Amino acid sequence: MTFEPRFTRYRYVDSRAFRGGVRKYASLRKQIAAKVNRVLDNPYNSELLGKKGASDLRGKRSVRVTRNIRIVFAVCEECLLRGFKRLGFNDCAGCTKEEPDDIVVFLIIAPHEIAYGEK
Ligand SMILES: [Zn+2]
Repeated sequence: MTFEPRFTRYRYVDSRAFRGGVRKYASLRKQIAAKVNRVLDNPYNSELLGKKGASDLRGKRSVRVTRNIRIVFAVCEECLLRGFKRLGFNDCAGCTKEEPDDIVVFLIIAPHEIAYGEK
């Protein structure tokens, strides 16, 4: 876990890439932690991503940390309810249950052109 757990509506898991990004953007740690907590309170207050050119982020969501830095994540409840898992958009390790889950998977933190696969 990248951050100390706090009481939030959702719990989270983070990817290696996300943890690497948090180390890389250490100067933004407070802003990242605040954004992570906001996402865990209401992950749907975010942008649902799609397919644009070579970048296919269907089933994933993003929030802004700074003008340039984005966090990309998946909401496992949404993976199941909207079929993002079944359709192959998301492949979260935790998304194996039949029941909607309260897990948010933090995937990437990066400048938007990298997070969105435009570079
Ligand atoms: Zn999932």
